[in-house]
Amino acid sequence: MMQAVEVEPRRFCKSAQSWEVRDDVAAFPRLAHEFTQGGLFCRVVGETGDSDALSLRIEIRGDATLTCQRCLGELPYTVDIGHTLHFARDEGELERLDEMVDCEAILLPAKLDLVALVEDEVLLSLPMAAMHAEGECPA
Ligand SMILES: [Zn+2]
Repeated sequence: MMQAVEVEPRRFCKSAQSWEVRDDVAAFPRLAHEFTQGGLFCRVVGETGDSDALSLRIEIRGDATLTCQRCLGELPYTVDIGHTLHFARDEGELERLDEMVDCEAILLPAKLDLVALVEDEVLLSLPMAAMHAEGECPA
């Protein structure tokens, strides 16, 4: 099982650090039960933009297998996530960021677990009910 990777987001972004991992889905504590097999490549890059705006570029890709809720057979699923998480330094900045289209923002935390972050992104991307299309379950 993968251990937590705790970073200080402020320092992580300011010094443009990055974290990468390529591992089996079974190695991710909260993903192990969602997928029957597969692997993921994850990359998190700290960025500092104009006016010291801090953000994380998150990329997660891989091919994995879910269980079809209808036939309980294997359902291939491609993970392809690429987006930016913005850090707001106060409530005012958070409100401004939230008003932007396609902008995901949170208040800058003192500590952040990158493994949990990646797991959250993948869990949020999963379909509510994983199923083959109507009539397409293998006999
Ligand atoms: Zn099915």
